[in-house]
Amino acid sequence: MRLTSFQPATRLVPPSAASRSVGEASPRVGLLSGDIVIDIAAAAQGLGLAEVPDEILAFIAGGKRALEIARQIEHRASELPPSNIEHPTSSSTFARASIRITAPIPWPQRNVVCVGLNYADHVAESKSVVGAKLPEYPVFFTKPATCVIGPDDAIPWHPHVSTSIDWEVELAVIIGRGGRDITEGHALEHVFGYTVANDVTARDLQQRHAQWYKGKGLDGFCPLGPSIVTADELGDPQRLDISLRVNGVEKQRSSTRFHIFPVARLIAAWSAGMTLLPGDILLTGTPSGVGVGRTPPEFLRPGDVVEAEVAGIGVLRNVVGGAGE
Ligand code: ZN
Repeated sequence: MRLTSFQPATRLVPPSAASRSVGEASPRVGLLSGDIVIDIAAAAQGLGLAEVPDEILAFIAGGKRALEIARQIEHRASELPPSNIEHPTSSSTFARASIRITAPIPWPQRNVVCVGLNYADHVAESKSVVGAKLPEYPVFFTKPATCVIGPDDAIPWHPHVSTSIDWEVELAVIIGRGGRDITEGHALEHVFGYTVANDVTARDLQQRHAQWYKGKGLDGFCPLGPSIVTADELGDPQRLDISLRVNGVEKQRSSTRFHIFPVARLIAAWSAGMTLLPGDILLTGTPSGVGVGRTPPEFLRPGDVVEAEVAGIGVLRNVVGGAGE
């Protein structure tokens, strides 16, 4: 099952649409089915099923029960009425083109947790910065929650702050059931699903400030999406081809089978003595082919189209915005 969050633009007009109990602009949890997005909470109501949270973090916290209702909706999707701009509150299915897909988790409850140096080839290309030794333990750092943008958003261009904005395609893990001291053997049972991330990085800031928080923490530096594929549907997270293109030219290509620390080991290390919450996001590192590792180095420019892809999940496509965006 593919889940995302979206803003149903048609509900913003006419103003009479403002009759729902939640703020109309709040992103709602949706089921992605081809070119159609189904508003899960509205569909559950329309089909007379049990109530489901309309916001993704509450939905994830709803566990198996919420997922089961979403599955029933997926099976009965053909019975749902299409969206109707005249009666927006009664509709639950939308054409993909008529809505704005936000990040699947548009407003994370806390920082996005990331792993640096989780592919040996990327360690080799980064040796001038980090040394050539493979890490013995995962290198954890975080990006602020305010970094997160969705597939329909532009990566902001910050020319007054950085002139070396770089790309990093990564497999992102979304935690389902929280916990602490999770063992490697049970770690994947705590995964809700997987999505694609771009760990956008200002290399000049990353170097200047030594610690990575600033260089990886600017607004818009964590594109996520286009959807979360649930863990049961994706299967083994260590057999996924991962790649990235800039303006159609391939820059990165690898497979998650080359992870130095597989997802289960990362979750065990991360959760040791530290509570994970439903909806927590973990970025699992990038393979070689980043801009700073090239000769000469390459960085993003306004108008560039960046496509980050993980096989079995999808393509996360973002345009780099112009100055001031
Ligand atoms: Zn990264």
